[in-house]
Amino acid sequence: MIFIFLDGVTCYDAYTKCDFTLRAHIIAWTGDIPALTKIMNITGHNSYSGCRFCDIKGIYSQKHKHVYFPPKKGSYAKKKHSNWLLHINEIEDVTLSKQQKEELIQQYGKNYYLGY
Ligand SMILES: [Zn+2]
Repeated sequence: MIFIFLDGVTCYDAYTKCDFTLRAHIIAWTGDIPALTKIMNITGHNSYSGCRFCDIKGIYSQKHKHVYFPPKKGSYAKKKHSNWLLHINEIEDVTLSKQQKEELIQQYGKNYYLGY
């Protein structure tokens, strides 16, 4: 359905009696954390890369059986769209094994490998 966003759909305007190209653009969406996780194809707030805004890395606690995010001094690097695309391309590389893809998914927090 991406072609609709790029090319639009020809529609008829009865007022002007002319055809025009209708394009749709998503400018915002909202939802709770699980919903946003699914929409964005990310691994979720309990994963090692659980923040959709920054590159904070979680640590697994054997004692509590949970990933947590210890505070650090300073700020975390914001996620960049260009890196997001690079990570997706890496994960989708057809020459990688399933194990390699899963390691990248865990590292980047993105769920673009749908082959399992
Ligand atoms: Zn963050």
